[in-house]
Amino acid sequence: MAPPIAIIGAGPLGLATALALSRRGQAVEIFDARSIAATQQDNRTLALSHSSRELLELLGAWPTALATPITHITISQQGGFARSQLSAAEQRLPALGYVLGASTLHAALLRQVQAAGIPLHEETRLDSSQPEAACIELQLQHTTRRARLLLRCEGFVPEQEATRIRDYDQHALLCRATPAAPHQNLAHERFTARGPIALLPFGQDYAVVWTVPAQEAEGLLTAPEAEWLGALNGALGGLATLNSISERAHHPLGLRMRREITAARCVWLGNAAQTLHPVAGQGFNLALRDAWELADTLTGATDPGAPELLARYAARRKLDREGAAGFTDLLVRGFSTHNPLIAGLRGAGLTALEALPPLRHFVAKRMIYGARAWP
Ligand SMILES: Cc1cc2nc3c(=O)[nH]c(=O)nc-3n(C[C@H](O)[C@H](O)[C@H](O)COP(=O)(O)OP(=O)(O)OC[C@H]3O[C@@H](n4cnc5c(N)ncnc54)[C@H](O)[C@@H]3O)c2cc1C
Repeated sequence: MAPPIAIIGAGPLGLATALALSRRGQAVEIFDARSIAATQQDNRTLALSHSSRELLELLGAWPTALATPITHITISQQGGFARSQLSAAEQRLPALGYVLGASTLHAALLRQVQAAGIPLHEETRLDSSQPEAACIELQLQHTTRRARLLLRCEGFVPEQEATRIRDYDQHALLCRATPAAPHQNLAHERFTARGPIALLPFGQDYAVVWTVPAQEAEGLLTAPEAEWLGALNGALGGLATLNSISERAHHPLGLRMRREITAARCVWLGNAAQTLHPVAGQGFNLALRDAWELADTLTGATDPGAPELLARYAARRKLDREGAAGFTDLLVRGFSTHNPLIAGLRGAGLTALEALPPLRHFVAKRMIYGARAWP
């Protein structure tokens, strides 16, 4: 029997990739350096687009009851009156996106992986790999294995293997916040010169992703609740009032693009191919499209590691990856500046977005389906 496709990483992407490939008839197995219990402990909250919901539904891993729909998104900037709103009804969708805990998504995917009988080896780190003519040899923590193709869903791009690196000198402060008034499924993306703030409806609360300069993150993380709330409510400028917060955490932010996303019998996907700033919640949505496109490219292949298939996959992913990275980078840098000329351009952009339904449609389509969405 031919060796299966080996997937490194049992995070949400590794599991989704395994399911997508197995549903298309490929034999896969998963390896993770950590225990399964450890992979389930992710306190992040994810905003997933309508198209990610569709893909996860096809995998049988959409946790309907635990996902909060986003029906409207307001985009605004601190110190300017212009603002714009995207609405699901205008885009003829039930929701623009959904908010759910990363651990909830992981649990839904894991159930499907187990139901499909996909082997999952915990506490088995990949140390190195060596491509051969018809397969790739994996040096794992306890053993050596052969695979026809190695898929790396490891969740990060090492600095020395990145072609484009941007350190935004910003940290994301994360928390759950109770609003003074019901959120009515309205999300906010607010740009301030110190960094963007996202308020995502999550149950009755908001999941908050508050970007601040790196040197302020540590102080705010340990600041009394009243101080944190004062600073956050001040930056929101009355868009919403938050009464209390819980579950504080933080993440350093940056952009890293992997130089090549394929090598001999090897593909890097998701955050292992591109790690983006979380503004506009693109990361896992983009990663799911990586997994889907790969499964699509390998459908029916007797040798899934064939060079021409991997080259086709890399070419098909180029526009979407570059588009998402360029879009988030532009948002972060274009909105995190005091320059009055750029502030004027930002205001004009938001006014145009509010005034022009076709432009709103164009932006919403790309946020939901990625850079290859058409029209
Ligand atoms: C603050 C913040 C907010 C975000 N918000 C959003 C959002 O709203 N929407 C969105 O779409 N995305 C968002 N993202 C991105 C999203 O969180 C990630 O894309 C996603 O969680 C990554 O999942 P993953 O499976 O690729 O990686 P991970 O969950 O990191 O899993 C990687 C796994 O690989 C294993 N591993 C690593 N190296 C090895 C090895 N050598 N051998 C074996 N195993 C190995 C690790 O143990 C780990 O379990 C956000 C990110 C941040 C930082």
